Amino acid sequence: MLPQRTDLLITKTHLISMDSAVGDLPHADILVRDGRIIEIGPHATDRVPGDVQLVDGTGTVTLPGFVDTHWHLWNSLLRGMVGDRPGNDYFTVKRALAPHFEVADFYWAARFGLAEAISGGITTVHNFDHNVRGPHDADANIQAHLDSGLRGRFSYGFPDSAEPGTTNDLHDLADLRTRWPENRLDGRLDFGIAVRGPYRTPPRVYEREWETARSLGLPITMHCDRCLREDDCRGCGLVRLEELGLMGEDLQLIHVVHADEQDIRALARTGTRVSLSPMTELRTMGFPKITELLEAGVQVSLSLDTLAMPTSADVLGHLRTIISVEAARTGSGVITPRRMLELATIDGARDLGLQEVTGSLIPGKRADFVLLRSSDINLVPSGDPVEALVYTGQIDNIDTVIADGRILKRHGRLRSFGGEQDPVTVAAARRDALVRRAAAEGNRNGPAAASIAPFDGTQSRSPTPANAQSPGGPI
Ligand SMILES: [Zn+2]
Repeated sequence: MLPQRTDLLITKTHLISMDSAVGDLPHADILVRDGRIIEIGPHATDRVPGDVQLVDGTGTVTLPGFVDTHWHLWNSLLRGMVGDRPGNDYFTVKRALAPHFEVADFYWAARFGLAEAISGGITTVHNFDHNVRGPHDADANIQAHLDSGLRGRFSYGFPDSAEPGTTNDLHDLADLRTRWPENRLDGRLDFGIAVRGPYRTPPRVYEREWETARSLGLPITMHCDRCLREDDCRGCGLVRLEELGLMGEDLQLIHVVHADEQDIRALARTGTRVSLSPMTELRTMGFPKITELLEAGVQVSLSLDTLAMPTSADVLGHLRTIISVEAARTGSGVITPRRMLELATIDGARDLGLQEVTGSLIPGKRADFVLLRSSDINLVPSGDPVEALVYTGQIDNIDTVIADGRILKRHGRLRSFGGEQDPVTVAAARRDALVRRAAAEGNRNGPAAASIAPFDGTQSRSPTPANAQSPGGPI
């Protein structure tokens, strides 16, 4: 059960606000009422009545909650199923199991993924759902998001392996706000549309989808990963998308790893957002072009993509990896630890249009923040706290996670989980049942059931070339 919001006073924490006016405060108090930050300062305790819960922040650093701008929560159940053995790449396993999901699988997959998000200090998640087979599937994802306590966006997509000539269910998309009016969303969730777009569908499909999204005022998200299907891909063709009128501030493009100079200029010119998923890009696509995109002024944010690939919610570990890769790739120092933290917080909020709500810590914003123990062995002796976190911080340092005024993790442990409603336990059981069902139904659409069994250490592992799976249509 979701914990109640609590009026809170966090005391004596080292605040990294990610706001230029507030800056960093070495001995800050943070007062929270009704899920909103009321006051930040060194002596907020002097003016606080005794009805708030005190959280002693001594020996901690406080950051805004991380913002993840592209995550396929539904396939969180596939963690451990994908590996390096032939036939066990992400796309093959996903295609094989996607048709066998039941509605409850979608709910628990999302709960499981969002529990990991909480564990890693991520308080806002954009759920890019690319296996919507009907309204109930979408509703299960939405309900799971609300039950998790986190903020975010649900982007309504299409069934996995959908035929290129079919459009998303635009009728149900239009019905979403009727079914989920604002008073059911707790002020924490909004909606968008996830499309396959011009790379994978004909004009009559994507034109209708764009037209519907814009008439409904919904933001659009789309993978830009031609590199997965084209050998020697050297560009994204974004100038053509701009000519078609598809680009703009309401469009989020994902990956764009092979963007050339013209592509990048088109992104900057149109205000199109870019979500980079460095861990999955490095694994299957190529180098994320963070330096070039930032130098051009493109709105960039970061994302996990999927728990099915070799990734986890260890955001600080990801930031450290990106800095090192960029140093090796470009030799440039454009990417600093503080800039990386901005990408993971306030720039993520900007991508989702939530910059007035979350992403930095200032009075008036919602209380989404993370306390990390700065006295843990990997963070001492301490120099600059921002550099320490990004260069040596890890998920284990996260002591407390507060989302919309609710304490969801405390003393390093997730709250409110246990028993029959524990997302980890339930997701594991649902994953096993999913595999059994796929095997029993003959697994007509994919590899033999044996090849999608969880890795148990007895199978031989041989590295699969990054793009060997070369998926044709589905993503
Ligand atoms: Zn993706």
